[in-house]
Amino acid sequence: MCAVATEAVIDSRVQQFLNTPGKLLIDGRWVHAASGQTFAVLNPADGSTLAHVAAGEKEDIDRAVRAARDAFERGPWHTMQPAVRAKLLWRLADLIDEHADELAQLESLDNGKPLSIAKIADVSLASEQFRYYAGWTTKILGDTIPIGVPFLPDAQFHAFSLREPIGVVGQIIPWNFPLLMAAWKLAPALAAGCTVVLKPAEQTPLSALRLGELICEAGFPNGAVNIVTGFGETAGAALSAHPGIDKIAFTGSTEVGKLIVQAAAKDLKKVTLELGGKSPNVVFADADMASAIGGAASAIFFNHGQCCCAGSRLYIEQSIFDRVIEGVADEAKKIKIGPGMAAGTQMGPLVSDEQLARVTGYIEAGFAEGAEAVCGGKRHGAKGYFVEPTVLIKTNAKMKVVQEEIFGPVVTAMPFKDLDEIAAVANDTVYGLAAGIWTQDISKAHRLAKQLRAGTVWVNCYNVFDAAMPFGGYKQSGWGREMGFQALNNYLETKSVCVQL
Ligand code: NAP
Ligand code: MG
Repeated sequence: MCAVATEAVIDSRVQQFLNTPGKLLIDGRWVHAASGQTFAVLNPADGSTLAHVAAGEKEDIDRAVRAARDAFERGPWHTMQPAVRAKLLWRLADLIDEHADELAQLESLDNGKPLSIAKIADVSLASEQFRYYAGWTTKILGDTIPIGVPFLPDAQFHAFSLREPIGVVGQIIPWNFPLLMAAWKLAPALAAGCTVVLKPAEQTPLSALRLGELICEAGFPNGAVNIVTGFGETAGAALSAHPGIDKIAFTGSTEVGKLIVQAAAKDLKKVTLELGGKSPNVVFADADMASAIGGAASAIFFNHGQCCCAGSRLYIEQSIFDRVIEGVADEAKKIKIGPGMAAGTQMGPLVSDEQLARVTGYIEAGFAEGAEAVCGGKRHGAKGYFVEPTVLIKTNAKMKVVQEEIFGPVVTAMPFKDLDEIAAVANDTVYGLAAGIWTQDISKAHRLAKQLRAGTVWVNCYNVFDAAMPFGGYKQSGWGREMGFQALNNYLETKSVCVQL
């Protein structure tokens, strides 16, 4: 690992944005929290304060939900012509692209990820979400349904279904891809005609607030999107329990996901959850070695391992185990660690001191249970929240590091014998978000893909996303799917209309 030095100059608009205390977006206006309280947003590269934002609480959530309800009842968001709604979503996508440099800087400063990645991955995938769902607004169709009643043989009916927006939606998002997670949530909900109250993560609220400004600039009706920054235990809990919300959509840890379900149970609001993962990445001896090694490394080290779908359990066919481990460790050692804003940085800090403690704590727990580090294994430097990319061997299925989500740049590697054994081993987890397979044998790939209990299976690739391809979890990785038609469907009710002729 090499340290990198020079940091990009912060854009003057970004600096101005950081200098202005963040407010809440409620009913199209930027307002202070009712309590007047703010909290500091930190730069994970050095722990310094980047900005202050409003600490929204229950009273602010109440105000935001009222605004979203008014906007839903009075329109014009869901009563607007679908093509006009599409134009607004498309306009927002264009504004995101026009402000890509600025958004990427905010994301890099706030989350710690490399500036180049923030721009090519986070920002561009976010604008694509809005474009993709802009296309759906004009294609939300019901069915005509041929029906008959056995005891009314002469009666004729005209029956059909309508797809209607579910109503007011609460959305709670995590800190690993702050802007992109906001886009994953907002785009399908808005395309469906719902109005929204969005709560960003306390660690990374900045890009969502800038997105809120772009939403206002694009010309969305007041109250269609409301953004309340604040803490999970206060703002988040108030939102998930709020009786004025018809549906709650959550991305975050499985632990908090369970709290969301309990809160939503009181009034049976609809719930979708995108939760944690412990995804297996399986390398067979007949794989193209260069792609498999590069793919295994990026599957875990991309975004510093702070990906719900990170390929964190690496299973390597016995005969090539040493070769693959050596290759992945070489890749890890080459990664340039530094502040996200520094030129050439390939891996930035983890998002917070809490995550630093969590990830290094897991590594220590691995060592205590007998794991060995081929590379990495500790904190990097003394300032900021950096952790070395780490490859652990001598691990087994019972270890904490193999069972629990670490959410950092730490992969556990284990050898396996053959295809018959690997599906059960890969599925030995409470999670089921994603999996990877590396082989040149197409039938082997398809056989294993069918056996894996995971929402996405990547073959000879990893971390490939498209707004059209559904993503989400089996088992404790969640309920429902993001992206594709399936995500839109999460925000629609079906009404059957039956007319006797
Ligand atoms: P987290 O602690 O569960 O937080 C996620 C969000 O929930 C934050 O906005 C948080 O607010 C809020 N929250 C916390 N406690 C709450 C409560 N009692 N009621 C309502 N909301 C509450 O997760 P995280 O550490 O930020 O994110 C990492 C996790 O997200 C990992 O487990 C990862 O796998 C998962 N993730 C999953 C996906 C997916 O698509 N499946 C995608 C990305 C991440 P504060 O931050 O303000 O406290
Ligand atoms: Mg931050």
